Amino acid sequence: MTLRCPRCESDQIATKNYARMVTCSIGTIAGAVRGWLGAASGAELGASLGIVAGPPGIAIGGIAGAIVGALVCGATGASAGAVLGEIIDESVLKNFLCLSCEFSFGKVSAEDPEAVTASEMGTW
Ligand SMILES: [Zn+2]
Repeated sequence: MTLRCPRCESDQIATKNYARMVTCSIGTIAGAVRGWLGAASGAELGASLGIVAGPPGIAIGGIAGAIVGALVCGATGASAGAVLGEIIDESVLKNFLCLSCEFSFGKVSAEDPEAVTASEMGTW
């Protein structure tokens, strides 16, 4: 499907994806924080796995477990944030920008130019 500007019919349309960028960052941070808070369990798991290698193994296993826990949760948060941001971008925000006339519009007005309301005629 080729998007067209509801105002000038140009097909030079860019996507802004502001919400996706923001929620992806928030998701990454939130996930990493949650992972870091949950790192104790990762550290415990790593330490128990490291027991076979003696005290140095316990320390290294604990650190590795904590880091892996934070990374995994960060990645999970980022993908959850990206999905949420995509939904917000597509349904709430005016995610499309006409490169010809700088008109911002949302998915609804892109699919149905007749649906452009007075409130959507401004740019942000
Ligand atoms: Zn335009």
